[in-house]
Amino acid sequence: MGSFSQPKGKTNIGLMGGTFDPIHIGHLVSAEEARQQFNLDYVTFVPAGLPPHKDATGITSPEHRYLMTTLAVMSNPYFKVSRFEIDHPEPSYTLDTIAHFSKGSQASNIFFITGADAIMEITTWKNYRQLLERCVFIAVSRPGYSLSRLWETLGASCAGLTEKIHLLEIPALAISSTFIRERVALGKTIRYLTPEPVEQYIVKHQLYL
Ligand code: ATP
Ligand code: MG
Repeated sequence: MGSFSQPKGKTNIGLMGGTFDPIHIGHLVSAEEARQQFNLDYVTFVPAGLPPHKDATGITSPEHRYLMTTLAVMSNPYFKVSRFEIDHPEPSYTLDTIAHFSKGSQASNIFFITGADAIMEITTWKNYRQLLERCVFIAVSRPGYSLSRLWETLGASCAGLTEKIHLLEIPALAISSTFIRERVALGKTIRYLTPEPVEQYIVKHQLYL
């Protein structure tokens, strides 16, 4: 896909939601590639809160995940982190997040960045048709998920709205937070899978052991 030309004069905001337990280079490469290809002014990472009534066993505390995300984006002037979902854990719906970021400004376009696995489940999200009307989705490739198969699935379930979904091929990174947590538990190195300050934070706070 070539560069995406945007209407002039509007702020183009990228949002990247996730549990980020922990954040890793798969997330960072996705956001950076989307930022450049879609001429985004910046990308805000939005770590998910812990919904009090949902089974959150095993998920690291929001503060740890928020701090690791902050450490990971520190070196990129175009990346920010939002506490919105962490501070409003109930309900933590994407629609509320998008409403929050578009609030008061007619002058912004919202681009929601997800991996191919996450967009595959879009029809199970609350008010997904409304979501597609309010923002553009950028679905980045992820090993194990075929973009062409994804496109067929979306064509059927999001009829009439597929022009709001863009597929973006990124350098493939077969990395997940689950994989990182498993490696830490096994005493295996995670160096280069996540930025060094995040790796140090995990060691210092003895996470995932
Ligand atoms: P977990 O293994 O705990 O599910 P994860 O690595 O999938 O973690 P999430 O926090 O669940 O990370 O994902 C946040 C977003 O980042 C999702 O939209 C997901 O699809 C995307 N994403 C995560 N890892 C990658 C990757 N390696 N390549 C592309 N997209 C990714
Ligand atoms: Mg995931």
